[in-house]
Amino acid sequence: MADHAVELRNVTKRFGDYVAVRDIDLTIRKGEFFTMLGASGCGKTTTLRLIAGFELPSEGQVLIGGQNMTDSPAYARPVHTVFQSYALFPHLNILENVAFPLRVRRLPKAERNERARAALDLVQMQQFADRKPSQLSGGQQQRVALARALVNEPEVLLLDEPLGALDLKLRKEMQLELKEIQRRLGITFVFVTHDQEEALTMSDRIALMQGGRVEQLADPVTLYDRPESRYVAEFIGETNLLPAAILPDGSARLFGKRIVLAQTRLAEGPATLAIRPETIRRLAPGVAAIADAFTATLRDRVFIGTDLRLVYDVDGGGEVVVRIQNRSDAGPPPELGEKVRLVLRSEDMRAFSN
Ligand code: ATP
Repeated sequence: MADHAVELRNVTKRFGDYVAVRDIDLTIRKGEFFTMLGASGCGKTTTLRLIAGFELPSEGQVLIGGQNMTDSPAYARPVHTVFQSYALFPHLNILENVAFPLRVRRLPKAERNERARAALDLVQMQQFADRKPSQLSGGQQQRVALARALVNEPEVLLLDEPLGALDLKLRKEMQLELKEIQRRLGITFVFVTHDQEEALTMSDRIALMQGGRVEQLADPVTLYDRPESRYVAEFIGETNLLPAAILPDGSARLFGKRIVLAQTRLAEGPATLAIRPETIRRLAPGVAAIADAFTATLRDRVFIGTDLRLVYDVDGGGEVVVRIQNRSDAGPPPELGEKVRLVLRSEDMRAFSN
């Protein structure tokens, strides 16, 4: 049998003349936590709705568990969707809410209740079985919605910004909890979010979408360390995007200096070099550098919890952001106006054509 939970084959979705999803081709593996990430309007919800069967593709095929379900109605697909709004029934208690999908399927009451209790147990909500939704917090309601989604034992769970309505602290707790539940149950999760940090925390793989297309599909570390486009480098985490030029011999000119690049397939001409702030080292003047170093002056310093974010003006024009850990044993923090040499290692850089 297929070890693919979901396959989209050349799927396009048009609304009138507008193309919301453009020729997407991707495979979601069984048991993985797969995230569709992207800015508002990139097509991630539409893609999820195409998998759920709430939308039908204009072109292409949707396969679930190896079966072609392109034209199957939503209720016939072995998937379940959890939305941002919990959509619990206010007049039913928690147990009845979770048992509801089984009531629809006309299972006997004893079995319904037993399975609903087991699902509540999974999300650690057994003790709230008799309460009404209005007597629960947002995070608790979201857990109940999850239990209700799990009670039918779907092969694939589709989650559309399920944590969007929660405050930051609860959201972070629920991220870890959701990931843990997914790992324990081994169900395929297809998760939609616009929050890159959330995607990086939870996912086995991420499809970063833009303009109805998949810009890059990779595991979180690859997406962060080896973005394949300037868009990905900018969207995921913070990055320095430095104007540069590729020279005829494949090296680059950066801040007026020639530097050797670790790898570039770019043609001669203007380019952008992307480098993460935490990969840049600072050397005191006079210390010998093993890699390309640029003299710079500290202009701005912002404290952000575990890190300090430092903005340097580079001699010869331009600025570079550096992040260092905020450690009490590392001596006093750098003073504004300090002169250092910044070491930008070519293996930490990605080169993109403009
Ligand atoms: P968000 O994070 O804002 O929900 P998204 O990435 O999930 O964004 P989609 O909801 O998939 O984006 O929408 C993609 C594009 O398709 C948007 O420009 C949207 O306006 C358009 N769109 C979505 N549904 C319809 C519809 N039923 N009719 C017309 N246009 C639609």
